[in-house]
Amino acid sequence: GGGRCRLSKVGANRRPPPARVRVAVRLRPFVDGTAGASDPPCVRAIDSYSLEIANWRNHQETLKYQFDAFYGERSTQQDIYAGSVQPILRHLLEGQNASVLAYGPTGAGKTHTMLGSPTQPGVIPRALVDLVQLTREEGAEGRPWALSVTMSYLEIYQEKVLDLLDPSSGDLVIREDCRGNILIPGLTQKPITSFADFERHFLPASRNRTVGATRLNQRSSRSHAVLLVKVDQRERLAPFRQREGKLYLIDLAGSEDNRRTGNKGLRLKESGAINTSLFVLGKVVDALNQGLPRVPYRDSKLTRLLQDSLGGSAHSILIANIAPERRFYLDTVSALNFAARSKEVINRPFTNESLQLHVLAPVKLSQKELLGPSEAKRARGPEEEEIGSPEHMAAPASASQKLSPLQKLSSMDPAMVERLLSLDRLLGSQGSQGAPLLNTPRRERMVLMKTVEEKDLEIERLKMKQKELEAKVLAQEAANPKEKENCSPTMLRPLSHRTVTVAKPLKKAVVMPLQLIQEQTASLNAEFHILKNKSRKRKVESLDGSEPEMKAEDCWELQISPELLAHGRQKILDLLNEGSARDLRSLQRIGPKKAQLIVGWRELHGPFSQVEDLEQVEGITGKLMESFLKANILSLAAGQRCGPY
Ligand code: ADP
Ligand code: MG
Repeated sequence: GGGRCRLSKVGANRRPPPARVRVAVRLRPFVDGTAGASDPPCVRAIDSYSLEIANWRNHQETLKYQFDAFYGERSTQQDIYAGSVQPILRHLLEGQNASVLAYGPTGAGKTHTMLGSPTQPGVIPRALVDLVQLTREEGAEGRPWALSVTMSYLEIYQEKVLDLLDPSSGDLVIREDCRGNILIPGLTQKPITSFADFERHFLPASRNRTVGATRLNQRSSRSHAVLLVKVDQRERLAPFRQREGKLYLIDLAGSEDNRRTGNKGLRLKESGAINTSLFVLGKVVDALNQGLPRVPYRDSKLTRLLQDSLGGSAHSILIANIAPERRFYLDTVSALNFAARSKEVINRPFTNESLQLHVLAPVKLSQKELLGPSEAKRARGPEEEEIGSPEHMAAPASASQKLSPLQKLSSMDPAMVERLLSLDRLLGSQGSQGAPLLNTPRRERMVLMKTVEEKDLEIERLKMKQKELEAKVLAQEAANPKEKENCSPTMLRPLSHRTVTVAKPLKKAVVMPLQLIQEQTASLNAEFHILKNKSRKRKVESLDGSEPEMKAEDCWELQISPELLAHGRQKILDLLNEGSARDLRSLQRIGPKKAQLIVGWRELHGPFSQVEDLEQVEGITGKLMESFLKANILSLAAGQRCGPY
């Protein structure tokens, strides 16, 4: 209430531009004992910013993604902590907020990254050790500010906010004070002055959550676990200012598509609730990173809670965790698409290992411009030790230099090691009971992969048919040169001129802003053909074979081959799967809202396997679908709208 409003937020008057959310991706190694551990991987590192993944649509291509940082399978907990988390802690003492979010499908390593194990403590214990030490030093007698640290621990489950330090308290409300600080009245706050204090509160609360998890069908993988550490500062002398910095450390709900895994009933409802918060999180991150004027924080509990700690003057890092096994493939692609602003299609088979480094080195990274300058410029050696070296710190500043890098366990206080061990025993039991990988039945995956393969074959068949058609057109052209004079010369150009179907070496398709796409495609328009000057009306063939629609706007009759229709559908599908919300708006019948819904659907459910899946998107009815197809299929088949697809 009123008291809080006296808290001075440093920088509140300056209004810096909203901060981008930094995005790191961490690929975990194969985990022994899980199915698929012997498969070849389907994801691979390129450098410390980028990775590539096989493209199931086209075995001749890989998809390359670039991030603020990429941590490969041999990266250590210390790499992630020192590279992406430790540098932001100092901002807490400047009265700014920060958040670290672990995203990704269940089983991909979110909990490992955030909590870790006794031998490999994760972000949470490392950050707490450093924060306790930092506040001790900064708040020592004789220093200008007195510091105190408190912790809260909560869970967002089915859009309810539950206090894990007081499980009886029920759903809590999230409020905003007059300065825009977000608070939860009634949420337990425990003061902590040592790491032992932290564990005393955290361990039993984690246990509560784990017990609930086994009973309630792996609830823990469906809820967001939010640890809040607050650093309060009071000036010892006049003018007795106060500052508050909040750090959120969040183990997000699994991002896998629960619908695809066939969950029903309660599970489906749960996944719906997870979808809301993860879906809105995606929109918020996107809005912040694109600098959009409206950021939809209020659309979910999670983002509402993070409103003052994501964007604004806050420092946020999203760590997308991914797994190398094939059965994670679709979830991995969807997690990468969630995390990425851009990707590149490189045509070269994924299996061709020897080529990689040489071919990739000279590739100009146009998406760098979209991503902005990268902060983390360190090079990570694969075999790095678990000890932090100062030259690896991304943003050294006065306060952060005081943060001591974590010591090797052997050189740590034995009491501390013992506590870490007990923390990890707990985590170990959680990990083994949670059996997080097993709720994605292997058989279902196999069926999906099979469908994918069949689709690929179908595409190959269509390509061959198209080649036949092209040959025919050429033969006709040769036999009947007069017809050529009636039409514009470009109209009878063979289909093979179209970029999509031709395997040129090292073709690169960069997902780019619409404007660029339109510029590019202006030149492609000239390549359409199969148009005959015939009557004053245009027949547009409808997709389901019903009455053709008559349009009097020009005097061309389109003679559409099934191959061309299929081609148009494929292009729509590609655009649906790869286009940004902006790109999607270039489609007829798709406005900004529908475009967002389509992007959201894709983030949650993975790629559309056929154009008709669009009907699963909220607000797209059968009728709309029909007119959508009619309106788009021809222009896309003609390459009028979207260059790279
Ligand atoms: P999530 O929390 O995303 O469901 P977990 O963190 O529980 O996934 O990880 C699943 C399994 O993989 C656990 O057994 C975990 O110990 C192991 N694991 C995850 N990441 C790594 C890693 N970087 N190195 C070694 N093992 C890992
Ligand atoms: Mg987990």
